[in-house]
Formats: sequence, structure tokens, C-alpha cells
Amino acid sequence: MAKIFFRSTNGQSPGVDLREAMLAGQAPDRGLYFPEIFPQLTRDEIAGFAKLPYREIAFRVLRKFTEGIIPDDDLAAMCRKAYNFGVPLEVIHYGVYLMRLDQGPTASFKDFAAQMMAQMFGRFLQENGRQLTILTATSGDTGAAVAHAFHKIPGVRVLVLFPINEVSLSQRKLMTTLRDNVRTLGVDGKFDDCQAMVKRAFADPDLKHIALSSANSINIGRLLPQSVYYFYAASRLAHPGEPIVFSVPSGNFGDMMGAVVAREMGLPVKKIITPVNDNDSFPRYLASGVYQKISPSRNSVSNAMNVGHPSNLARLVAVYGGQMDETGRIHKQPDLAAMRRDIFSSSISDERTRSSLRDFWSQYQILLEPHGVVAWQGYLDWLAAEPGGDVPAVIVETANPAKFPEEVEKVVGWPPDVPASMTAAIALPEDYDRMDVDYEKFREYLMERHKPGASLR
Ligand SMILES: *Cc1c(COP(=O)(O)O)cnc(C)c1O
Repeated sequence: MAKIFFRSTNGQSPGVDLREAMLAGQAPDRGLYFPEIFPQLTRDEIAGFAKLPYREIAFRVLRKFTEGIIPDDDLAAMCRKAYNFGVPLEVIHYGVYLMRLDQGPTASFKDFAAQMMAQMFGRFLQENGRQLTILTATSGDTGAAVAHAFHKIPGVRVLVLFPINEVSLSQRKLMTTLRDNVRTLGVDGKFDDCQAMVKRAFADPDLKHIALSSANSINIGRLLPQSVYYFYAASRLAHPGEPIVFSVPSGNFGDMMGAVVAREMGLPVKKIITPVNDNDSFPRYLASGVYQKISPSRNSVSNAMNVGHPSNLARLVAVYGGQMDETGRIHKQPDLAAMRRDIFSSSISDERTRSSLRDFWSQYQILLEPHGVVAWQGYLDWLAAEPGGDVPAVIVETANPAKFPEEVEKVVGWPPDVPASMTAAIALPEDYDRMDVDYEKFREYLMERHKPGASLR
């Protein structure tokens, strides 16, 4: 195995190794880091996953990227620490399965990446004795997952920006009740405003003296661990070599890119269904070849997917030989025909989300929440649009229904059970700051907190 290097999607920065790519977050040319080549898993290696627990599959996939950076024994230990929760696979009906990625400490799939990233960051910082501030914008779930994963990791402080009126109460409490090295900032704006403020801070010469990094899905460290559960699902549900379909409810496209990475590494995948909510810039692009981001982003019941311009789209475009910059401008068209062959996307309105949630419950007596049901409805759209759906399909449920009790209760008539990890956080007192969408103020806030002698939070 050779050491893997990462280059920027904007093509103007030199290639770096995993450690540098993760610590930097964004490339200096404002592009996103992406593997220069994808390491391969052989058919036999993948077939061997059938008998292995999740953490061991994680180790065997991730070591392809950590070669020359993290010794195997250490990586195996990190995987054991990161993945001490289950990944339930339920049968919906013959050949169609639900993968629940909601058993981590903050009950969304974001835990899978955040837990592993925290392990890696902790290690890299210890190695070079550095201190770092993780700056992250969240539409609800990332902030909670990142805050929990990095809570009390030495050398790291965490600042989470969230749109104050766009997150549910339990989403908010999962990030505002931590203390120690974690601080949260409620912004009177949208997720896109939070993301824009974070991006500006990274590019701001006045903040060069502060070591900032990102735990957003722009960080390659977020993406790689999200490929593992696709290998895991296939190892349990498909025969060796049998192609499989994944339906992944999408906002910033980090989760679906995990499936793309798995496929590029050798997993046979027939289709990656990438349904979105009313923020439909991607399905429009796929159909027309013309990309127009949606600004401002549209609110919807699947609030963790209220993203007008999915930042990982630049990586998807790169996989298909094109180039898109961070503003969404396409400098070189990707192979759209190949993209259409591999990916299907439709937009699911709030009305369809709600009716589908109700229908799914009455048909299967399985409870979904507003994001997972977008995956289900996207799968139905695909079946209707394209023949040949007769292969194993996995619907990805990205959050626990208890994170969206109001929506779920409206549909099924009672509030969902709350997992123990959430009840504990919800009982604790909250503590967070508030701010308008005002970059100058935000810069001030950051400078103030990083003065010599300022408290860790
Ligand atoms: C973040 C999130 C999504 C969207 O994932 P992306 O990687 O941004 O596409 C979907 N569902 C839930 C519950 C989320 O938290």
C-alpha cells in the first residue's frame, strides 16, 4: 500500500497527506481536498467483511487512507473507541432494507464521522503539541455530533454556529448543554449564513494568528468514515460482487459522497439515489447540466438538509472529471452521462415528506423521521422512473425519530421514544451566545476569545 495524497478540487494547491488535509480543513485555494487516487479493496477483502463487526470493517477501510500516517494497531484502537454503538439493518420488505444510523451519542449519522474525526484530531495534535479551534456551522445535527465527539479532547476547542430558528429543541440542547472546551453560538439567520461566516473566517487574513480548522463536511476527515457503513450494509445484505442500491437523504452531499467513495474503492453499487428536499439545485443540474445554487436556502421539515448549495458537489463533479469552484461555478463540465447512469435524484416537497411518513407507518409499522422518509420517497421515485430495481436496496435513515418529535407526533399521533443518550443531555441547563448575521462582529468575537489568557471556551 502506498501513502495516499489529497489534492484540491480547485486544482491550485499542492497535494498534501491526510494529516495536513484534515488539520487544514479547506485547501488554501478554497477548494476541497480529495484523494488523488482511490485506494482499492479487492473483491476478496470486501467479501471478508461479511463476518466482521463494524469497527473491524472501519479499520480495514480506513487503513487504506492512513498508511504511513497512523500505525495499524493504533488505528484499530481508535476504531474500537469511536464505534461502540450498533448499526441496525431492518427489513422493510423483501430485498429492501432500512439502515439506521441513529444509535450514536447524538442520534444522527453525523456521529459516525465526528467520533472518528475526534480520535484522529486528538492524535495529530498530540503528535505536534498544537492547539486548534474547530469552527463549525451546523443545520442541527453536525454541531451536536461534533461537540460531543470533541468534548474534552485535549488541544481542541470547539465553536459551533447554528441558525437559531431552524433547529429543533432537542437538536439545540444536544449542543448547548456541553461545557468545558465547547461553545455554541446561535445566529439569527439561516444555515447558509452560518456556513458563509465560517468560510469567511477561514479566509480572513486578520485571523491568521488563530489555528482554525473545520469539522464541516468540507473536511475530508468527515467524508472517509462515512464510506464505511456502505461496506457494512453490503456485507450483510448483498452476495459478494452483487450490486446494491443506496438511497441517501441529502443536504451537503457528504453522506452520499461516502457511498461514492465506497464505490470508487471497489464496492459494487448499482445506483446512488440522492433525494433532496425543496432545495433542488442538484436534481435540476443533473437533468439540465446547468447549475444554479438556491439562495437563500429554503426551509423544510427535513431541516438538516436545508442547503442551497451543497459544498460536496465540487467533489462529486471532480469524481466525474469536471471542476466546480466553491461558489458553484462550473469551470469544466463533468461526464454528465456517466453521472446520470450512476446517480438518481429527485426533490421531495414537505407535503410529500409528511404524507410519505404517514403512508410508511401505516404500511410497514416502522417509524421514520423527516429525513429518512425523504430517502424512502426518493427510492420510490427511482423505481417509478427507471426499470431494473430488482437488486438489494438500502434506505438510509439518518436520524432518530425522537429528534423530530413534533413532526412525528403530527403524523402517527404520539411522540417517539427518546433514547437514553438524549434524555440526559436534554435535562441539563443550556448555555450559548447569540449573534446577528454580521461578519465583523463575528471576527471580533473570535479575536476576543483567542486573546492570550482568554478562557478555553
Ligand atoms: C446532515 C443530515 C443529512 C444530510 O447529510 P449531508 O451529508 O449533508 O447530505 C440528512 N439527514 C440528517 C438527519 C442529517 O443530520
